[in-house]
Amino acid sequence: MNKVYDKSESILNISKKNDNKVNAYQLIKQILKTNNDSEINSKFLNFIDQKKEYYTYLDKPHIHEEIVRCDSDKLFEYLLFRYKYEIFPRKRILEELPPLVQIEPSSICNYRCVFCYQTDPRLSNKKNGHMGLMSLDLYKKIIDQIEGRIEGVTLASRGDPSVNKALGDMLRYSANKFTAFKLNTNAFLMNEKLCHDILSSNIQTLVYSADAANPDLYKKLRVNGNLDRVIENVKNFNDIKSKHYPKSKIITRVSGVKYTQEQNFEEQEIFWRDLVDQVVFVDYNPWENVYNSKLTGVNDSCSDLWRRIFIWWDGKVAPCDVDYLTTLFRFSNITLNNISEIWNSEEYNSLREQHLNNKRNCISPCNRCSVV
Ligand code: SF4
Repeated sequence: MNKVYDKSESILNISKKNDNKVNAYQLIKQILKTNNDSEINSKFLNFIDQKKEYYTYLDKPHIHEEIVRCDSDKLFEYLLFRYKYEIFPRKRILEELPPLVQIEPSSICNYRCVFCYQTDPRLSNKKNGHMGLMSLDLYKKIIDQIEGRIEGVTLASRGDPSVNKALGDMLRYSANKFTAFKLNTNAFLMNEKLCHDILSSNIQTLVYSADAANPDLYKKLRVNGNLDRVIENVKNFNDIKSKHYPKSKIITRVSGVKYTQEQNFEEQEIFWRDLVDQVVFVDYNPWENVYNSKLTGVNDSCSDLWRRIFIWWDGKVAPCDVDYLTTLFRFSNITLNNISEIWNSEEYNSLREQHLNNKRNCISPCNRCSVV
């Protein structure tokens, strides 16, 4: 059987810059001590003491940072989101809506990273109909459905969100509506306007995808990329932030895929640590061609079926981005049904049941995927 890929354990290395000496449980109690609102405090304490076991899942440096930077009046919503994100997939709990929605502003990417499904022409060849940009109207329709009901939103998927010129309007539309809003980008197209759009929309986390400190190795992995330009853009972002948004609580992270022995986390950390808040290497999962991979023999049910939903640029829905050609679902489309209907649809539930009943190995591409 192949090595399994556990999403919640996918971070291999993380910089310890802002690591806390206390655990998450103590950290939250410390924050509460500084809060004078007794009603909120008792709501929190109740929640904390009932769910003590879950705090071990929060004891990761990047989550501590999110807790510390969260506005105190939004901390409860954030912790509830984290609880659903961490615990629901483990206990296979299903609610009306998923803990997290992953939205794809663009399936088009300006890069062709060696470990990415963009290298598969069945996806990236425009003739095959998978390439496109989400309209602002569709984006608004999604946000209207989830505002106040879901806290976790990530803008990223098969392409780079910055390719879509409507990204700024999208960010403005979702500003201040979610406590765990994340944007992923390779930063190549992150111009001055986009920096302002990101910073003024108060998003919680900005993730730069970059895997090397050396321009040649970077280019070898991130084909069509240019590390010097990315660094210039990141420095520009930092200048704009300190000059125009000094109170911004945004967390910046550089996240690299650990793909080859040539990559070195220490070098990566030294190179990036003054530019971002967090430096991370995540485990490589063979995303780039699951359909032609060998059968994995993994037959445990997949946690993503209880964790998040992916909405592509054209409204199609997928349970994960491993299925980048959208073969698992034929009927799920956000232009026809709302998220709650899709999340609890026959199509989704039938996939979950097959996973729970040891039939994952009969389903393609789940039988060639290592995610558990
Ligand atoms: S392909 Fe199947 S097993 Fe793999 S992440 Fe998607 S739903 Fe889960």
